[in-house]
Amino acid sequence: MTEELFREDSTLRECDARVTAVDAAGIQLDRTVFYPLGGGQAGDAGMLRTASGAEVRIVDTRKGAQPGEILHVPAADADLSLLQVGATVSARIDWQRRYRHMRFHTATHLLCALVPHPVDGCSITADYARLDFHMTEPLDKEALTRGLARLVAESHPVAHRWISEAELDANPGLVRSMSVQPPRGLGRVRVMQVEGVDLQPCGGTHVANTAEIGAVVVTKIEKKSAKTRRVVLGFAEPA
Ligand SMILES: [Zn+2]
Repeated sequence: MTEELFREDSTLRECDARVTAVDAAGIQLDRTVFYPLGGGQAGDAGMLRTASGAEVRIVDTRKGAQPGEILHVPAADADLSLLQVGATVSARIDWQRRYRHMRFHTATHLLCALVPHPVDGCSITADYARLDFHMTEPLDKEALTRGLARLVAESHPVAHRWISEAELDANPGLVRSMSVQPPRGLGRVRVMQVEGVDLQPCGGTHVANTAEIGAVVVTKIEKKSAKTRRVVLGFAEPA
């Protein structure tokens, strides 16, 4: 079980941690700031630095086979003999990349507010975000871009809180996503609130205010199937 520091504070870029397992599939730590692929959001990349200053590059982060396991996936040429179980390392994420995930991820919540239909697919990367809505009506690219710009300019605070599963069951409308149900069995569920805009269960990382998203545009709207409309977002500024 890895302590998930990013759940309480998504602005943490670095932490000290102890190595608990090492194999080719990934390195496990007792605590981490690395977000594992999930809820559509890409896993973090970054670096593990040993006490002697040696570095092991991490190219991705995934959930392991056991609940609560987080695998820090090393680069193909990484020297894993540098990492001994029990050793202390400094774990640092590629913040530029992660911050783009956070901005895009928060933008997808704004999109959910603008398109009041169930979501049945989601992908958030450093270069684009896309959401698939279960709906048959056409969508207007320019109108959505304007709607996003308005919600960004209005500077809505973004924060998470934990609610009980009983409270969630009493409010089924909270679960917007059809394919990604919130994890159950822990007694509590993390919900993200964009004040006055959106509220839904979500385990991902987000910025603290919609103003941080900056200039985001709808780059494409696709009809994926008779009942699915895909909306793709990009940043207006170059990467
Ligand atoms: Zn979210």
